[in-house]
Amino acid sequence: MRIGILGGGLAGIALAYFLQNNDRIESIEILEKESEPGGLCRSFHINGICYDIGPHAIFSRDDEMLNLMIHLLGENKSRLRRVNKIVHKGSFIKYPFENELSALPADEREYCLKTFLNNPHENEKADNLLAYFLKTFGEGITRIYLKPYNEKIWKFEPALMDTQMAGRIPRPPREDIIKSAAGISTEGHLHQLYFYYPRQGGISALIQAFQDRLNDHVNVFTGAGVSGFKRNGDQWQIKTDQGGACDYDLIISTIPVQKLAEIYQAKIPQDVQAAVNGLKYNSLIIAIINVQKDNLDDSFAVMVPDENIIFHRLSKLNFLGESYRRDDQSTTLMAEITYPKDSALDKMPVREMEEKIIAGLEAGRFIDTRKQINFMETRKFEYAYVICDLHHQNNMKTIKNYFSGQDVRLCGRFGEFEYLNMDAVIRHAKNLSEEIG
Ligand SMILES: Cc1cc2nc3c(=O)[nH]c(=O)nc-3n(C[C@H](O)[C@H](O)[C@H](O)COP(=O)(O)OP(=O)(O)OC[C@H]3O[C@@H](n4cnc5c(N)ncnc54)[C@H](O)[C@@H]3O)c2cc1C
Repeated sequence: MRIGILGGGLAGIALAYFLQNNDRIESIEILEKESEPGGLCRSFHINGICYDIGPHAIFSRDDEMLNLMIHLLGENKSRLRRVNKIVHKGSFIKYPFENELSALPADEREYCLKTFLNNPHENEKADNLLAYFLKTFGEGITRIYLKPYNEKIWKFEPALMDTQMAGRIPRPPREDIIKSAAGISTEGHLHQLYFYYPRQGGISALIQAFQDRLNDHVNVFTGAGVSGFKRNGDQWQIKTDQGGACDYDLIISTIPVQKLAEIYQAKIPQDVQAAVNGLKYNSLIIAIINVQKDNLDDSFAVMVPDENIIFHRLSKLNFLGESYRRDDQSTTLMAEITYPKDSALDKMPVREMEEKIIAGLEAGRFIDTRKQINFMETRKFEYAYVICDLHHQNNMKTIKNYFSGQDVRLCGRFGEFEYLNMDAVIRHAKNLSEEIG
């Protein structure tokens, strides 16, 4: 059997890794449109600094997947303890927010504690993200932090979002909240408290580690954007941007499902097309800012719910280890900004965007003055975050049914259009390879 995999991000590469030793498979070809594989797990370089598309921490509740990633990296990894903070009215509050309520002004601390302990929403049905926040954390924590931060990162009303992502937000134990308001420090989100990160090469080292283990049944073609595909008897015929054509017995798509529908040379039923058109997602701008000095202290990342500052997260890459620091004592910051396609943020000229990022760094006192900036670079990525709105599950059910009926397999974050982190992407690739096997 000849297999064609559309897209060479983590899902595509992991699929090939799991499928390669199947005796029934003669060859696997990965077709990737960019000049390098990796997708959202690519890393870039500027003036001796290596950076990801938002720093990619390796952590998981799925031990098998976590162990696989760690094993593949071999010696090339560090284990780091999370030091994340939330910026609220000029102070840094330890992440997760509910674990350091004592850092809030007295009236807000009271409000959060009272509305958590006597929560009228506790027994309500939570059928959207906002209702879930109110039920789980009470009004204070929701209004002061969760709602504004989520509105900022999603650029979407939490009341119009599904609760399927809520599983990743653990319910804090009652005692922890009481302790946290009394100034006794506790830790939340324990499965992310420690994470792994490649010692060198950024997260693309994980992609490289998979690639190093691919055998000669697998070929990765870069610069090979898929521009069309159709059935031709028992085979799938795929067209690439360069005008090439290849035939496969089986195809697996890891590219965004909207693109897949666009390039399918068949008449897609109206209800399926409507479901595809209904899918929502966010794009991302990342800005790398190298500065002589910053005011982030020992933090790795700070979440910025303040709507007057353009970025929602600011990370300090020096935290990640020796090879992410320059010799000149400078620090490298990464600011992240989400935006919907064709929005005002999408259309904003780079200069104006950079000016707003710098203004945000100054306004939040993350740096003392713009004169401390050595250099800056921004990049845009169209497909970054799946938005699970209230129609997402139904839309995806229609789309998955259709493509499975066409015998096109879907895998990956935008292939399946689900909020998947690296561990879940690799898990889905493994499950699909076993299904195929
Ligand atoms: C800002 C940010 C931070 C993140 N941080 C973490 C983290 O800390 N920890 C974690 O576990 N996960 C994190 N993730 C999630 C992680 O990046 C994804 O789960 C993973 O990279 C998805 O891999 P994928 O292969 O499914 O999708 P993608 O990486 O999107 O790969 C799809 C590939 O298809 C290619 N493609 C698209 N169209 C075509 C075409 N027509 N023809 C050929 N190829 C095409 C693309 O170029 C791309 O290479 C983060 C994601 C983002 C956006």
